[in-house]
Amino acid sequence: MTESDPHAEIRAEVARLCRTFPDSYWRALDRDGAYPTEFVETLTRAGWLAALIPEEYGGSGLALSGAAAILEEIQRAGANGAACHAQIYMMGALLRHGSDAQKAEYLPRIARGELRLQAFGVTEPTSGTDTSSIRTTARREGERYIVNGQKIWTSRAEHSDLMLLLARTTPKSGTGKRTDGLSLFLLDMRTAREEGLSIRPIRTMMNHATTEVFFDEVPIPADTLIGEEGRGFRYILSGMNAERILIAAECVGDARWFIERASAYASDRNVFGRPIGQNQGVQFPIARAYARMRAADLMVQEAARRFETGENCGAEANMAKMLAAEASWEAAEACVQTHGGYGFAEEYDIERKFRETRLYQVAPISTNMILSYLAEHVLGMPRSY
Ligand SMILES: Cc1cc2nc3c(=O)[nH]c(=O)nc-3n(C[C@H](O)[C@H](O)[C@H](O)COP(=O)(O)OP(=O)(O)OC[C@H]3O[C@@H](n4cnc5c(N)ncnc54)[C@H](O)[C@@H]3O)c2cc1C
Repeated sequence: MTESDPHAEIRAEVARLCRTFPDSYWRALDRDGAYPTEFVETLTRAGWLAALIPEEYGGSGLALSGAAAILEEIQRAGANGAACHAQIYMMGALLRHGSDAQKAEYLPRIARGELRLQAFGVTEPTSGTDTSSIRTTARREGERYIVNGQKIWTSRAEHSDLMLLLARTTPKSGTGKRTDGLSLFLLDMRTAREEGLSIRPIRTMMNHATTEVFFDEVPIPADTLIGEEGRGFRYILSGMNAERILIAAECVGDARWFIERASAYASDRNVFGRPIGQNQGVQFPIARAYARMRAADLMVQEAARRFETGENCGAEANMAKMLAAEASWEAAEACVQTHGGYGFAEEYDIERKFRETRLYQVAPISTNMILSYLAEHVLGMPRSY
């Protein structure tokens, strides 16, 4: 963020809204493993979750950097945007690859918050990072598909009306691309839950509303297919750069939160008759984390700029995600260390944010996969997997 920041107004407004949800709100939810319904409803009513939906469908039609500013400010305020960030970007698959009828039916209702599109069913227990080996199938039967299989780590499934589901519609063949034969569906979870879809929450080290989802002969209308059958993997890939840039912006927001808390505490806390922040051993990790955060932020801005101008941004989106996730983790580490014992006390909120920000080196894509991408696609080395 600079003084000439074109998103200064957005930032100020999101920050103002977030201040109405103080640390104590998030602390209580974290303790109970509860979903921040009021926070999500407030963001929805204010229109922030419809940031990327074009105006013709009732959204605000912001550029990606505008959405990045929203998510960065949410995290910077100590809130947890992971509860709803998917509502901002998941409709991208529908926007880019859906039919006119699908867009007209769903986008305005998603923009108004009448429909929550928060669940993304890709990862499976046996496939892990190797999406091409997913086993969930969708079998065509007349005017419907029948879905069988299991997803894991489907976040917010209990708080979503719709799910973007990736399923295999054609068995994997020995020839052709291994990602062929996967199709993308926009599934109505409300009806599916009455017809064989079940959800089991997974308790995790942070409050994340993530789940396992089971499909037992679940019928879904054939017109829920997005785009062409068999091309689903390409469709989800096309949305991943946007997702990576936005998650990177969240990490920058987290890093700012940690750095602000650490600097303030270091200046206030007196031990041996002087502020601990007067010691270079305390200052330097915070200053280093700040430099890393600023560098990551520049990469986020560059990735967003390329995205917005239609240039290839694969490398920059990946690097932004990796650098920002590492910067937020470094800042988290410095913040805990600066707080000494108090860094571990719930009432300081640092241990909560520390747990939350750790996720981003694993999901939605792990650091190793980003390094593999750079090695192969940017540096021209052999594919490793
Ligand atoms: C809280 C949470 C929320 C999530 N939300 C969603 C969601 O909403 N929807 C969804 O579909 N998924 C979601 N995920 C899944 C997430 O994207 C996966 O966990 C992630 O892609 C890694 O898959 P995995 O856990 O099976 O790890 P694995 O694939 O088993 O990998 C384990 C480790 O090995 C490394 N590794 C694997 N293969 C290689 C290789 N060839 N080279 C180098 N390193 C390798 C990985 O980088 C990783 O560090 C979520 C996960 C979590 C934890």
